Amino acid sequence: MRLDERLRAHITNTLSPVTTRVVAGIVGDEPSKYAKTPVLWNAAFRDLGWDAVSLPYDVAPGNLAAFVGAIRDAREVAGFSVTVPYKIDILPLLDDLDPIARQIGAVNMVGRTESGALVGYNTDGQGAIDALTRKLPGMDRPFLPDGLKGRHVLLLGAGGAARGVAFYVASAMLGTGTLRIVNRTAAKAVALATGVRAAYGIGEGAGEDKLHRWIGDADLVINATVVGQSGWRRAPAGAFLVEPYSPLAPSNPALVGTDRPMDGSIVREWFLASKKDVQTNAYDALDATSRLNPAASCFDLVYSPLETRFLRDARLAGHPTLNGKWMNVAQAADGFARRVLAKELAAGGLAADAAYDRVFEAMARVW
Ligand code: NAP
Repeated sequence: MRLDERLRAHITNTLSPVTTRVVAGIVGDEPSKYAKTPVLWNAAFRDLGWDAVSLPYDVAPGNLAAFVGAIRDAREVAGFSVTVPYKIDILPLLDDLDPIARQIGAVNMVGRTESGALVGYNTDGQGAIDALTRKLPGMDRPFLPDGLKGRHVLLLGAGGAARGVAFYVASAMLGTGTLRIVNRTAAKAVALATGVRAAYGIGEGAGEDKLHRWIGDADLVINATVVGQSGWRRAPAGAFLVEPYSPLAPSNPALVGTDRPMDGSIVREWFLASKKDVQTNAYDALDATSRLNPAASCFDLVYSPLETRFLRDARLAGHPTLNGKWMNVAQAADGFARRVLAKELAAGGLAADAAYDRVFEAMARVW
């Protein structure tokens, strides 16, 4: 039976007939509606001339275990990415975890051992390291030419992406410098910092109230919150936007009902209800921006929009800035070239670094 037929009972989207030799993909609640992963991976497959395809798998919460079971038996599936809301739920369903993914407590990539076992990885952190320290297309040197060693890093956020970044950045800092983590929910920042400190000897966490005290000491500020990202976000009590805000100051956006089409009139309703909060955030964030260390570089994981309010303020205040686009490409290239398909690329005569560069470039062209 073809793969699309074997997976039909476990997914809610419809797949075209799958006849390729190698298959990859992305599992989430509805990746078929938004995920970039298949586009990026398919560009790399085309560039390599492989008989392979990457597909979105929309899986309802109750079906994740059965889906993973079906994939385990489908040996043509070399691996797959994992996205919202399964990055944590998938942990107990896998056969093994990469040690750093185990520390992070979340998986965004699954590969397969020679015996067919499914292994979980986290490539977000390595993607951030690569974006910060490698020479990127269109740049004459890396964003951080001297790397991460000895840096004084202020990380905003303690969610899934922040966890990956915190462990990888601390690992790359080799016990030098400082890593401070600020999060709206202070307990999550403290817990994350405690875990990172236990593993790498650096890490201090606090709530947003510490931001104004810590911001002047940092020479690298990383936003790993959702604040600044485009698009509606949904809470049980309604929908809200975070795009107009900077993560350098608190934000409490108004909620609007989701019982109508999310068109211009509802955007305006949200805008009028949140105007004062946006103004307060902008005022306080500009004040925080003015207190940045003059030598600080600013990195935002968000890539939609390409320039968030955080990055625009920082750029206008004279700081080097980097958005999340290259991290997004880098985490996909890391998963493809170093985790899921490393053996196949090596068998095709591509050494590890050359394979990564080729995959990165193919993905960058279509991003
Ligand atoms: P997540 O797990 O939902 O975490 C969200 C984070 O944002 C938490 O720290 C949360 O704080 C904070 N937050 C939410 N609303 C806030 C507000 N109003 N004020 C202050 N903080 C707020 O999300 P995630 O998966 O970590 O993703 C975070 C961002 O990174 C997203 O925009 C995502 O697109 C981006 N990302 C980019 C890449 C890339 O390749 N460039 C990769 C992964 C993620 P609380 O803990 O207090 O709720």
